[in-house]
Amino acid sequence: MTDSTIITHDVLVVGAGLAGSWAALAAGKEGVTDIGVLSKLHPLRSHSGAAQGGIAAALNNVRPAAGGGPRGPLEAIPPGDEPIDSWELHMFDTIKGSDWLGDQDAIEIMVKEAPEVIYEYEHMGCVFSRLPDGRIAQRRFGGHSTPRANYAADYTGHVLLHTIYEQALRHGVKYYPEWYCLDLIIEDNVCRGVVAMDIISGKLYTMRAKAVMFGTGGYGRAWKITSNATANTGDGVAIAYNAGVPLMDMEFVQFHPTGLYGKGILMSEACRGEGGYLRNSDGDRFMEKYASGLMELAPRDLVSRSEQIEINEGRGVGPDKGGVYLDLTHLGAEKIMSRLPQVRELAHEFLGVDIIHDQVPIQPTAHYSMGGIPANADGQVIADADGTPVVGFYAAGECACVSVHGANRLGTNSLLDASLFGRRAGKAMAAFIKGGAKLHPISGDPARQQEARIQRLMSAPAGSKESVAQIGAELKEAMTNDCGVFRTGQQMTQALQKVKDLQERFPQAQVMDKSRRFNTDLLGAIETEHLLTFAEVVVVSALNREESRGAHSRTDFTKRDDANWLKHTLAFKNGGDGPRLGYKSVNIDWEKYPPQERKY
Ligand SMILES: Cc1cc2nc3c(=O)[nH]c(=O)nc-3n(C[C@H](O)[C@H](O)[C@H](O)COP(=O)(O)OP(=O)(O)OC[C@H]3O[C@@H](n4cnc5c(N)ncnc54)[C@H](O)[C@@H]3O)c2cc1C
Repeated sequence: MTDSTIITHDVLVVGAGLAGSWAALAAGKEGVTDIGVLSKLHPLRSHSGAAQGGIAAALNNVRPAAGGGPRGPLEAIPPGDEPIDSWELHMFDTIKGSDWLGDQDAIEIMVKEAPEVIYEYEHMGCVFSRLPDGRIAQRRFGGHSTPRANYAADYTGHVLLHTIYEQALRHGVKYYPEWYCLDLIIEDNVCRGVVAMDIISGKLYTMRAKAVMFGTGGYGRAWKITSNATANTGDGVAIAYNAGVPLMDMEFVQFHPTGLYGKGILMSEACRGEGGYLRNSDGDRFMEKYASGLMELAPRDLVSRSEQIEINEGRGVGPDKGGVYLDLTHLGAEKIMSRLPQVRELAHEFLGVDIIHDQVPIQPTAHYSMGGIPANADGQVIADADGTPVVGFYAAGECACVSVHGANRLGTNSLLDASLFGRRAGKAMAAFIKGGAKLHPISGDPARQQEARIQRLMSAPAGSKESVAQIGAELKEAMTNDCGVFRTGQQMTQALQKVKDLQERFPQAQVMDKSRRFNTDLLGAIETEHLLTFAEVVVVSALNREESRGAHSRTDFTKRDDANWLKHTLAFKNGGDGPRLGYKSVNIDWEKYPPQERKY
């Protein structure tokens, strides 16, 4: 290590999405003055900015109009009128949505603090859509029993992210845009910093910090059809796992019901929140058969499975009959243009369909990672089932598993999760710093180890025919086919074998670009290595869980099995032998919210 390659901060955040930037802002507001945030993308290109539909909080501004029912028009609740929404109802909906795998103490914190977070956004200047009387407008989302999604047309994530980024800058946070984190340094269960690359120069730095937080986002890119941005390669979870931190509940991956057919690009759930229908090749609104109460606004796991059954039974649409239709034509041009302008643009640009006039073909798309780095409600990462803290290491947002979403997340709860737990982690890190946290020494030279890793990647055997892109494509195909909406033991055994074969082939793969400046070929190889690392954890965790719960749906174990499986999975790195699994109990209030059958 030479001095010019060492950077120090009190607080170092990896990730500049809502979780990362909120944490930095909150720590700044609490008086921490030395905060660095690194992001492999420009901060405003983080996937949080792609979120469309809304952010949940029981503000109680809107209710169904008289006689409107679950799908009819909405009206504003006059101030002082009888409330229809409450944190308790938000809590119950979230617990039910999670198929009782969510930790109820963390869920309670989230739903109680949610309105405060929305008003903080508002006071910082966030441009929410409004009711005529000026209060924040709300719409319906799947699995929520009242209109609870606060939104800004269908650009919600975009406006939230801009608000937090500019406020973080105002509080003196130093951003490192286009810096790539390669490694997390933990010794004796104390986090000491990270190794990162300045992508523009290709130079490596050891970044030391008293507290490090990961807000590195989701891992949908391990699947072929996904709504996730190309950057969502689960780097953070793979890096933490390699550093000895366990991963929790990785088998729970949400498939969103409405990805554009063949592309996976998201048609927001707001489409159904605003009244959209799903139809099969016979023109039937098939949700009648699967969730006659909530219909299209049942939770995502259920709707995706219903679509997949229609497709599997031959009532699909599109060239290979692999999709179903999203029908918005009855909403009218005015509503579509004011509430869903981005959705219209996406359908038009990518499939040439104008949703004002035509149905658009869609299919389930890998969307959200319920699992991740285990953390408590203050973002403190834990090292085991007893909750032993990894000193100085925090995680929040989609890369973390708190766990508020359990086996299935409700739409609009994750912008809330990322914002709220990012903010809490920022405050917790500030308290940690003020309490006298130290900069711990680093033994050895982790940056040199990462340099050696890069050299290995750059020097695949001469004449090798393996390509990183091919390995990535085969992985995504296997994960979509054999660890997707429905899974069986036999399919997942096959997927596991495939992942292991690909891991073995990977060292032979060529990185063609041998330069160091902005080498996206090299970064693609590192990201593919990360995909191969955590995909194995996903498949092993899923194969082991012999039940169906939330988004983990096995056709060979079709029932939820609370007697044996009402517990979180913890996967620990175990040398070259694949993950070693352990389990952690779920925090349940047995008096108030005991497990029930999940019906909609
Ligand atoms: C298309 C789409 C629409 C969505 N719509 C909604 C919605 O309407 N409502 C809702 O509640 N949720 C929605 N979600 C989910 C929600 O947007 C995300 O879960 C949430 O924004 C994640 O925030 P985050 O801060 O954890 O991660 P992200 O916003 O993904 O940010 C991750 C950050 O980590 C950085 N990073 C990652 N790896 C590295 C590395 N190795 N080195 C350096 N930096 C790194 C990235 O540069 C980025 O800054 C949607 C998701 C998608 C994909």
